[in-house]
Amino acid sequence: MTAAEASDAPWDLVVVGAGPAGSTAALATLRARPGARVLLLDRVDFPRDKCCGDGIAPHVSDVLRELGAEDVTDGWQPVDQLELSRGDHRVEGTMRRSVWVIPREVFDARLVERAVAAGAVLRRHRVSRLQRHGDEVVLDGEIRARVVVGADGAESVVRPWLGTGRRGARALALRGYAPTPAGGTGRQLIRYGERTQPAYAWAFDRGDGWSNVGYGELVDRTTGERPTRALMLEQLEELLPGYVADGTAWRGHHLPLSGWRWDQPDGPVLLAGDAAGLVNPMTGEGIYYAVATGAAAGRAAAHALGSGAPGSAGARYRADVRRQLGRHLKHTWTASWLTRRPVVVHAGIEAAGRDRHVFDALVELGLGDGRITPRLSAGLAGALTRPRGRRRTPTEE
Ligand SMILES: Cc1cc2nc3c(=O)[nH]c(=O)nc-3n(C[C@H](O)[C@H](O)[C@H](O)COP(=O)(O)OP(=O)(O)OC[C@H]3O[C@@H](n4cnc5c(N)ncnc54)[C@H](O)[C@@H]3O)c2cc1C
Repeated sequence: MTAAEASDAPWDLVVVGAGPAGSTAALATLRARPGARVLLLDRVDFPRDKCCGDGIAPHVSDVLRELGAEDVTDGWQPVDQLELSRGDHRVEGTMRRSVWVIPREVFDARLVERAVAAGAVLRRHRVSRLQRHGDEVVLDGEIRARVVVGADGAESVVRPWLGTGRRGARALALRGYAPTPAGGTGRQLIRYGERTQPAYAWAFDRGDGWSNVGYGELVDRTTGERPTRALMLEQLEELLPGYVADGTAWRGHHLPLSGWRWDQPDGPVLLAGDAAGLVNPMTGEGIYYAVATGAAAGRAAAHALGSGAPGSAGARYRADVRRQLGRHLKHTWTASWLTRRPVVVHAGIEAAGRDRHVFDALVELGLGDGRITPRLSAGLAGALTRPRGRRRTPTEE
């Protein structure tokens, strides 16, 4: 048992959930306050699988570089080709910055290792209850904390305790792994379907002979109707034929999509990543938001601990995340609302084929912290008012 574990004092920070948001929060606190007593809890042991498309945006590396952990992608092949299509509308091009496709079993375990190497204590524990006792937060009646980061994913137990229940949209998606066919190497394919938008199938080459493949769609908020596993496999086969038969490790999960506005209450309990309802509503990408908000939560915790006012962490964290992501979240919400109409999806593909900047802006909006730029708006408007073409490659200028 380490000195940190043996102490009777409350933990400086307890992080609930050791996914990308939680590990990054632990790392960021320890980076800012080496020697802080940080407890990282997860209900399962690592390495563990997580149902995901495994697409790691370059922005994730930007955040991890600041924390000295960008080497978690080492040994995996960068992917830079992206094809977007719906029906016979198609665009393909080289992304300005490469992405990675790394099984979460590998990626998350590496991040946990980095947090532990920085000084976090990792413990297997399923949190089910939080209580406020004076200045402390007590988890399950036994674990005392000055600051808590709830990074416990889409089914967070910390979120309802904070009273920030979610009313946002949800998507449901199924993923598996299948051998990468000839021609699929180094490529990410996204093919939109006909059902409630956004609905799409994907095949992301991992670079090791396998692809992460799957299908997801928006859950209808009025009917609450969810696609069944059989329907999702059927859609995947229809949109990207050939992957289902050889696929393995199928798992489904829902995604809490971000909305127009993001909130975080004052106080010493912070929510990050999926627990904070932060998944891109256009694309289902959430790892960048998880590490960005994990890092912000870790910094806010460190600052609040340093100033002797753990309860100030919430306000500081809220301001930081709003400054970083506030406008972007509004723009992705708007884009996802617009792209519920197939004609807008077609226009986006068409405009991206005509103008390299539109292609880049769409990628940035879907993967990172992009905006609906004036040129993207103009491209969409133009494509909506002119007869549409077929396959295009973004033209360089
Ligand atoms: C099918 C699918 C495809 C996706 N594809 C992509 C993609 O390609 N790229 C991308 O960026 N995003 C993708 N996402 C979203 C991405 O998976 C999430 O946004 C990301 O995992 C969020 O990270 P997190 O750390 O917030 O939560 P998680 O990764 O969910 O980690 C939460 C952790 O908390 C633990 N936990 C939960 N409850 C408790 C508890 N009570 N006590 C203790 N521990 C607990 C869990 O065991 C888990 O380890 C996809 C999601 C799905 C479902």
